[in-house]
Amino acid sequence: MPDSLYISNRANKLKSYDAIVIGSGISGGWAAKELCDHGLKTLVLERGKNVVHVKDYPTAMKNPWDFAHRGQIPLKMQKENPILSKCYAFSEASQHFFVKDQEHPYIQEKPFDWIRGYQVGGKSLLWARATQRWSKYDFEGPARDGYAVPWPIKYEELAPWYSHVERFAGISGNLDGLDTMPDGEFLPPWELNCVEKDMVERINNSYHDRKAIIGRCAHLTKPAPIHIAQARTQCQARTLCERGCPFGGYFSSNASTLPWATKTGNLTLRPDSVVHSLIYDEKKGRATGVRVIDAHTKQETEYFARIIFVNAACLNSNLILLNSKSSRFPDGFGNDNGLLGKYICFHNYRGTLNATIDGYSDKYYYGRKPVGAMLPNFRNVHKHEMDFMRGYMVHFSTGRGNAVGVQDQPEIGGAFKDRQTEAGEWGVFMMMQGETIPKETNHVRLSPNTNDPWGIPQLITSVAYDDNDEKVLKDFLQQGKEMLEKTGCRNIMQNDSKQSPGLDIHEMGGCRMGSDPKTSLLNKWNQFHYCKNVLVTDGASMVSTSTQNPSLTFMALTARAANHAVEELKKGNI
Ligand SMILES: Cc1cc2nc3c(=O)[nH]c(=O)nc-3n(C[C@H](O)[C@H](O)[C@H](O)COP(=O)(O)OP(=O)(O)OC[C@H]3O[C@@H](n4cnc5c(N)ncnc54)[C@H](O)[C@@H]3O)c2cc1C
Ligand code: SF4
Repeated sequence: MPDSLYISNRANKLKSYDAIVIGSGISGGWAAKELCDHGLKTLVLERGKNVVHVKDYPTAMKNPWDFAHRGQIPLKMQKENPILSKCYAFSEASQHFFVKDQEHPYIQEKPFDWIRGYQVGGKSLLWARATQRWSKYDFEGPARDGYAVPWPIKYEELAPWYSHVERFAGISGNLDGLDTMPDGEFLPPWELNCVEKDMVERINNSYHDRKAIIGRCAHLTKPAPIHIAQARTQCQARTLCERGCPFGGYFSSNASTLPWATKTGNLTLRPDSVVHSLIYDEKKGRATGVRVIDAHTKQETEYFARIIFVNAACLNSNLILLNSKSSRFPDGFGNDNGLLGKYICFHNYRGTLNATIDGYSDKYYYGRKPVGAMLPNFRNVHKHEMDFMRGYMVHFSTGRGNAVGVQDQPEIGGAFKDRQTEAGEWGVFMMMQGETIPKETNHVRLSPNTNDPWGIPQLITSVAYDDNDEKVLKDFLQQGKEMLEKTGCRNIMQNDSKQSPGLDIHEMGGCRMGSDPKTSLLNKWNQFHYCKNVLVTDGASMVSTSTQNPSLTFMALTARAANHAVEELKKGNI
């Protein structure tokens, strides 16, 4: 039987739903799609403005000369946004999809570059779309190597859900047969350019423990009927993706999951709705709804539902949960063990290499493919054998011309003009994506005395690298140099960007899954151990980071959890 609050609000059709989803980004979009597909009347609450696919991509078709600063961020904006300006994707063409530093301040106890997109679609509009499955080694890692807590699920349990989301989202890739990076339901792969092909071959011939492959990404290389049904079409290889893609060539909530959910007739999308906290009913022992502050009027409203999905992106989900205090949960939602907000982890992106490569002067390429090559992790895969824990994957790409590998050249005048007509040298870029070890000390918490304009405590970030990260970085720089030498590169430069955590934009943890309620917040279905009708399925729920990109795994976990929640609702268990 629903509680009285639920009954009274059931009468008010505007405020009572079967399900509420907090956040409309990558994971929230998937929750909405799955729940709506199963017939649940679903309310998606999004703090940012509405962004309607195609209509609200104001820069998508602009040429460089259409921008006041030719696409560059002007100095004034750079000065006003010292954090955001570090993000490679922040440009004059994409700036309207990023949260500006001054708009939503947070407190950095230790340096942390928090990059956010507050709008319908969240960061799904902005992401780089690299999508690889995690492997069994990733899910087995914490138990094998004794860090964090054991994952409560195995790769095999998630594999069908990877397939489910891959088919719908559209992931391009090659079937490589690697157990370190399992194959998926792929659309045709892109093609590496001639230099990348040779480098891949040379790396693979030089090492028995390494296999470089072409990147995998959420782009429609050859749309299937399910993509046409979403009114999406083939990627045009323009790489202007952060502006929003009118072709629906890449996966975003705006192009894919949200319009799909809308078509079911079951979705209500409320932009400009800042979720303040969850409402917990002590008598029923369940959450009944959420408190929402209107982004503009600051008026508070409550919405009610039988299940609630928290998908505000890792740190904001932690924030909402920490702010959801009740006499049952005085320290934050479901937080009996005091671990909410702790074990935040991220990806170590500090190491990069630049080089040039001789030859290929009679070769060129056309189009702008959105992927390069990648090398799945080869460290500590089958057993722990290095002087550091876990490992890193490597992305690398090559290009010819002025943009890549050429530095300290004039950017005006005759020499500059001459250079525009020359193909130039081939340049090589290589970067690491290192696993970080979740630690209790890496945490976020609420400020006790500083609120934002919506009356919500500001978030304090206390996240840093450790010695393990330094060792992983050192190994990558050594190995990267050696691999580049073996492929015939010259002028190899090793770089440690020393960038702060956060700029990887792969934050995870704080509300992790696990089998033991003493050491985790969520069960194997992403439900709170102590309140089963609330599910967290974004990065906050992750136990560890893997070396792979994370968002495909957020999607698969979300689809799996949503389908389980629907089953549990049908059985009357939640
Ligand atoms: C430049 C860039 C490149 C990236 N490249 C990759 C990549 O190649 N591969 C990869 O896997 N990942 C990549 N990422 C990361 C990826 O974008 C995120 O992992 C992913 O978007 C997370 O999905 P999410 O649903 O958790 O959060 P988001 O997509 O950020 O969505 C969260 C939503 O919640 C809303 N929200 C927040 N707080 C509240 C609140 N209180 N009330 C209501 N709504 C709220 C936000 O406004 C937002 O719309 C990249 C990100 C960026 C910015
Ligand atoms: S590269 Fe493809 S996905 Fe990106 S904007 Fe162009 S058409 Fe769209």
